[in-house]
Amino acid sequence: MPSYILLYNAGMRTWDVIVIGGGIVGLSLSIELRKKGASVLVVERGEPGHEASRAAGGMLVDSGRETPLPLQPLAMASARMYPEFARELHVESGMSVDLRDDGTILFLSSSDEDDDNSELGSRLAPAQLAQLEPSLMPGDRPAFYLQERSVDPRALTAAAWKTAKNRGVDFSSGDEVIAVNLSDDRVTGVTTTKTAFLAPKVVNCAGAWAGQIGPHTFPTRPVKGQMLCIAMHPRDLIKHVVRSPDVYLIPRSDGRLLIGATVEEAGFDKRTDVVTIKRLHHAALALVPNLADARILEDWAGLRPGTPDGLPILGATATPGYYVATGHFRDGILLAPITAQVMAQVIEGRNPDYDLAAFSPSRFSQTPIST
Ligand SMILES: Cc1cc2nc3c(=O)[nH]c(=O)nc-3n(C[C@H](O)[C@H](O)[C@H](O)COP(=O)(O)OP(=O)(O)OC[C@H]3O[C@@H](n4cnc5c(N)ncnc54)[C@H](O)[C@@H]3O)c2cc1C
Repeated sequence: MPSYILLYNAGMRTWDVIVIGGGIVGLSLSIELRKKGASVLVVERGEPGHEASRAAGGMLVDSGRETPLPLQPLAMASARMYPEFARELHVESGMSVDLRDDGTILFLSSSDEDDDNSELGSRLAPAQLAQLEPSLMPGDRPAFYLQERSVDPRALTAAAWKTAKNRGVDFSSGDEVIAVNLSDDRVTGVTTTKTAFLAPKVVNCAGAWAGQIGPHTFPTRPVKGQMLCIAMHPRDLIKHVVRSPDVYLIPRSDGRLLIGATVEEAGFDKRTDVVTIKRLHHAALALVPNLADARILEDWAGLRPGTPDGLPILGATATPGYYVATGHFRDGILLAPITAQVMAQVIEGRNPDYDLAAFSPSRFSQTPIST
């Protein structure tokens, strides 16, 4: 493990690592780096945890069907890490992150019925389904039970932010990185809208915006997701995450039920639209008619960080001292603990515990951004 030393350069403080972006990926990584003894500054354009990480549903889906093959080892490892990850954030922040272990009921479309579904286990009989979720009216769709957890991403990011601060991570919020600074082609820090900060290592964790920051372009793009949230009555009307082809439902322990989500190519537009929210709402009511009188609490949209091949971008770039951890698309909440672990290892100069070749930044041509 390297020994990190806090340096002062002509009166200007120098950090070991600057993390660009205070979403769940940047926050988790900053905590991991602090644990290794590094001094860390997170530079966040807005408020930490207020972009995709706040908008997420929080399903911790690690089953083969939805996870791209190269990502499965990381997804499964991260799912295994979650109880300890959540416990640590809870203990260190004093905030509950609502990690739920009730499992998921997965409905396939009738057209998927003839596929090989053996990895899903045995199909639930109607009586079993009725016992698990008496309010569900699934029609004749095939249903399966999966042992997946869920977490409340808003609570999780708030707890991660507080934990990072408690551990001594520095923050510059409301401050946008406009350039990564180089000297002799090595990283020396960042320039922001407010000032400049020094560090020999900089990690781009800017989510859907990661591709906008030099010195290289990355083909990240925003993939919009709209959701709404209603108040269940009684508070535990639905206990399991329910996933069907047209909608998913995620219960929270405080009685909220999240209903999601769209997957839209709409640029950096975070507005919701009434027709889409109504469509999601109606799809939820079709599954659970008892929700008809449930009050709508809010709706929102967030921007998932997408990449051309649907895989994250993790690792060192061609510029010494410049790293990237983004492109987690629909799985960034799930993948936060393992991303923090492997990226901290890469930044320390160690071999990561998992093969990151499929996620290498070099798989995309890293065109220099001219400044
Ligand atoms: C509707 C929806 C549902 C989802 N459901 C799930 C789910 O059930 N399970 C799951 O695992 N994942 C889910 N996701 C995906 C998950 O939310 C993302 O993959 C994850 O939040 C990405 O985290 P991040 O830290 O990379 O990005 P973000 O949370 O977007 O954080 C990036 C941060 O970088 C900051 N930033 C950008 N540019 C700059 C700059 N130049 N300078 C400084 N700061 C900058 C931004 O302000 C932002 O705070 C969902 C996403 C959406 C939208």
